[in-house]
Amino acid sequence: MRQFANGAARRGYGGSVLLDRLGRPLRDLRISVTDRCNLRCTYCMPASVFGPDYAFLPRAELLTFEEIERLSRAFVALGVRKLRLTGGEPLLRRDLPELVARLSGIEGVDDIALTTNGLLLPRLAADLKAAGLKRVTVSLDSLDPEVFGQMNGLNVHPQRVLDGIEAALKAGLGVKVNTVVQRGVNDAGLRELWLALREQAVVRFIEFMDVGNHNGWNLDAVVPSREVLARLSANGTGAEFQPVNPHYRGEVAARHQDGAGHEVGLISSVTAPFCGDCSRARLSAVGVLYTCLFADQGTDLRAPLRAGADDAALRELIAGVWQGRRDRYSEERGEVTRERKVEMSHIGG
Ligand code: SAM
Repeated sequence: MRQFANGAARRGYGGSVLLDRLGRPLRDLRISVTDRCNLRCTYCMPASVFGPDYAFLPRAELLTFEEIERLSRAFVALGVRKLRLTGGEPLLRRDLPELVARLSGIEGVDDIALTTNGLLLPRLAADLKAAGLKRVTVSLDSLDPEVFGQMNGLNVHPQRVLDGIEAALKAGLGVKVNTVVQRGVNDAGLRELWLALREQAVVRFIEFMDVGNHNGWNLDAVVPSREVLARLSANGTGAEFQPVNPHYRGEVAARHQDGAGHEVGLISSVTAPFCGDCSRARLSAVGVLYTCLFADQGTDLRAPLRAGADDAALRELIAGVWQGRRDRYSEERGEVTRERKVEMSHIGG
């Protein structure tokens, strides 16, 4: 049974909303369009695991653009307002601008964004913008060629990502930059990166997370956001930064500004988890719905879709999953162990 609760005003959200078991509304949908990537970041898709013999998904397994559009419409009917395309590397999916055009035609969608490593933006940014994309989040972990080359696993030079950022800006897309911080790996170059990019983009530093099963995560490798802030400041204290009010409820990056108004975002996924405000559903490239980045299982939407389920049945299925949702992995980290989590390359960041 689908039930809508009307706690909108109380919780600071607009309109009627579908709530999960912890009172969180369904607002965002992250759609992974491929499990393939053209980088092998050591913390995400290490080359030792995702090597030449790795069996990536065959094309027939992937949701088609028609299927993604249909499911997106169902999610939007249930309250989703923001769509984000991710992967793997979403720009590897052929004809991606066509998907963006389909999704931007859905009434009720306020925002369409894309998370990318930026390498293919020089080729695609203008077409994506023309198709209705509003903004991109580009991942860039270091400006030091040696550090970045090692982290991306393929010795790709950071200038290629900077070229992608430039192409996005030129096309009129808004740009944010995501930097995953790992102690002893790229933490020495954070200020340099922020100084170089802060005039063009909001840089967001992300605490290294224990996603997937292969990134060798341990707590010692996490640089807490308060330490990141200290490293960004000229005198090493972080004292010149002041917190900025969030733009909207559930904003994951805590924004700070220095005295000159330069902004930085801190995503404290480990030291200050934000499960309590998490309004995201995640759709894998093969159409499995996950209700948490750290989930070990999901709900197959592709099978009913391909078996001919009508729109009402799809909405009913999704609503039931959301209403049963009680995930809060990041808040429980340390108390629970998950045997096998879904890979980041399957559901995206
Ligand atoms: N290929 C695209 C990209 O590079 O942005 C999209 C997919 S990638 C999985 C999405 C985001 O997840 C990237 O910003 C990446 O840095 C981040 N990410 C991957 N593994 C992570 C981890 N272990 N901890 C924190 N962030 C991670």
